[in-house]
Amino acid sequence: MCCEKRKSACAMKTITEKIRQDAAHLTSQEEETLRRAGSIIRAGGLVAFPTETVYGLGGDALNRESSRKIYAAKGRPSDNPLIVHISRFADMERIVSEIPEEAVRIAEAFWPGPLTMILPKSELVPTETTGGLDTVAVRMPAGASVRKLIEYGGGYLAAPSANLSGRPSPTTAEAVREDMDGRIDMILDGGKVGIGLESTIVDLTARTPQILRPGYVTAEMLERVLGKVDTDVTILADDSGQAPKAPGMKYRHYAPRGELTLVAGEPERVAAYINRQTAEDGAGGERTGVIATQELLGKCRADVAECLGRRCDEEDIARNLYAALRRMDEEKVTKIYAESFSASGFGTAIMNRLLKAAGHRVVKV
Ligand code: AMP
Ligand code: MG
Repeated sequence: MCCEKRKSACAMKTITEKIRQDAAHLTSQEEETLRRAGSIIRAGGLVAFPTETVYGLGGDALNRESSRKIYAAKGRPSDNPLIVHISRFADMERIVSEIPEEAVRIAEAFWPGPLTMILPKSELVPTETTGGLDTVAVRMPAGASVRKLIEYGGGYLAAPSANLSGRPSPTTAEAVREDMDGRIDMILDGGKVGIGLESTIVDLTARTPQILRPGYVTAEMLERVLGKVDTDVTILADDSGQAPKAPGMKYRHYAPRGELTLVAGEPERVAAYINRQTAEDGAGGERTGVIATQELLGKCRADVAECLGRRCDEEDIARNLYAALRRMDEEKVTKIYAESFSASGFGTAIMNRLLKAAGHRVVKV
């Protein structure tokens, strides 16, 4: 029990409730859970919940205190803006100062879904939510439960990924608990998420729409709807000398605690390189790990091995990536080697996260 004097030092109690992400009919218990979660958010509290991309940490986007709490719970730098989640397209009107025709078209094509758009913000959105910017990021997530939560929570949920800043995003409720237990009011446990990487971010305030963060919705998919789309050069390069346009992309992100190196090349040569390195590292007292697809992993030796799935299945690779990075931390691995992937289509998003997790440490063999 907390005595009055020690109260501030005591962690808050985080409750966990089960929820199905996308059930056609919610049970009365699920309805009740979502209503309760919604009241917590309306009262200024924080609730973590599953979306189709990763778990989000939600608070009332129109309440500056809630946004402050989100930054504090995550240890997130306050210049890294939050994405506002809505449940109906019409709700966008109140939080943006204009809705360009491109926004309507991509919403029709990709919402609800893993796409975030950047638009000029309205007065209603506090600058705490937008990290001081005069633009706002908006997304309508897929999944019946999450949209109901948004509705019950007041219509506008600021929700970054539910991890401590700098750590890999959570793709299960257990991963959320690892980072957020005692820091937030509630976790909705909906099991493993479907996509496993954060949403694609497209900036519609630029003359030509520009992708600031790659995700499941690829440049090719956007171009089919919008015509020409640019991509922020910093997504894959670290030598452009430019700052990323999405403030959050400048931070070392998605990173395990051990030193991660990506190894690119022919599979036989990659395996040979990894085995030489892990033998040498092991002899030097390091604990070694390998993250690779099934085909390569069988050829590699390390203390800890994490399989991403089959090489031909990019969706599986994406879904398993963050859990593999987190497992390396759990196993206290100090030197990690990961397979490299082709940076096209959805592979661009996989490589963007891997490169950031590795601090752009890539060896070509
Ligand atoms: P997270 O919610 O953790 O997936 O991170 C949200 C990402 O969206 C970060 O990289 C932010 O920098 C980016 N973002 C949010 N709002 C804006 C905005 N108004 N302009 C540019 N990037 C944004
Ligand atoms: Mg994040």
